[in-house]
Amino acid sequence: MNLQHAPSVIPAAHNLQHMPAKQVLIVEDERPIREMIAFGLKRAGFEVREAEDCRAARAALADQRPDLVLIDWMLPDMSGLELTRALKRDRETRELPIIMLTARAEEGDKVAGLEGGADDYVTKPFSPRELLARINAVLRRATGNGADELIEFEGLALDQASHRVMVSDRTVPLGPTEYRMLEFFMTHPERVYTRDQLLDRIWGGNVYVEERTIDVHIRRLRKALEEFGYDRFVQTVRGSGYRFSARTV
Ligand code: CA
Repeated sequence: MNLQHAPSVIPAAHNLQHMPAKQVLIVEDERPIREMIAFGLKRAGFEVREAEDCRAARAALADQRPDLVLIDWMLPDMSGLELTRALKRDRETRELPIIMLTARAEEGDKVAGLEGGADDYVTKPFSPRELLARINAVLRRATGNGADELIEFEGLALDQASHRVMVSDRTVPLGPTEYRMLEFFMTHPERVYTRDQLLDRIWGGNVYVEERTIDVHIRRLRKALEEFGYDRFVQTVRGSGYRFSARTV
């Protein structure tokens, strides 16, 4: 592995073109908004399914697994945040990428959405173009860069082919964003990255994400690794950013 010139983890556009249509499930009770989103996504080549409440979303998910779920915060039967939490708790659905839609612009709500397990968060009103950029970024993180190496670091094994992270024979449960983050760290160890650099390398340059988001995902990654004793590898470098290292500072 060449640490100086490690390959970019963001896939080239041509890698995405040969994939079958990705399916997005839209969970939103307001029909005009749902249809507007569906229209935009279909035009961009996505296969779209729609659900008007959490119950319908559950039924749709049991029926067929989409590649990504868009969940509105305000839903009639259960909040979108609760649905997100429930899906992230369930073994069957916890790796499913979720983007939350909301009219709530407050920072606290955004963090609550991310803490609830959402992979990203889009505030209404949004442009179809912005939503599309977010969806593509989350899907890129979820599907990886096509490399299929087995990367090992002090007993922590990351399999790029299956997107699985293992310690001996136990799987470390990670969401798609935390997986991408760990993949980046494990392929770029022993170097300090600023939040800005991490956003650029993990999220890609075209998407606007607040730096605060990084901290939420770092926290989630540490939490997932904690049980296996690897959380100490994800180190905060005060005033600079983060570093992945087996050495104690
Ligand atoms: Ca709604």
